[in-house]
Amino acid sequence: MNDCIFCKIARGEIPSSKVYENEKILVFNDIEPQAPVHMLVIPKKHFDNVTECDNETLCAMFDAMRTAVRNTGIDKDGFRCVMNTGENGGQSVNHIHMHVLGGRSLQWPPG
Ligand code: AMP
Repeated sequence: MNDCIFCKIARGEIPSSKVYENEKILVFNDIEPQAPVHMLVIPKKHFDNVTECDNETLCAMFDAMRTAVRNTGIDKDGFRCVMNTGENGGQSVNHIHMHVLGGRSLQWPPG
């Protein structure tokens, strides 16, 4: 068992606000939401980041994301998916995760 916070969330050892779950993937609400809808999509298996994750798991993450955006209704007006990666990318939790933001108009480019 490792000390990764998102592994602990995936194992149910730390509570989360669950949006969607299947055998491989968990979608939960970000604890510091940056938009009216701000979800995180994670694989239950640990990968540090997108460069280390296998294609099958990435597909499963995207599939779960599509279900979650339909379930929350943000698919209608649009949304944004982001994977912050590494130091320059601003990744603070080293377990791959996809931010899914929606429910308001989002600015571009990010800072
Ligand atoms: P990043 O900075 O891209 O690595 O994103 C990590 C995200 O995880 C941040 O948006 C945090 O707010 C979020 N986060 C950290 N701990 C928790 C937690 N226990 N439950 C939900 N979201 C969390």
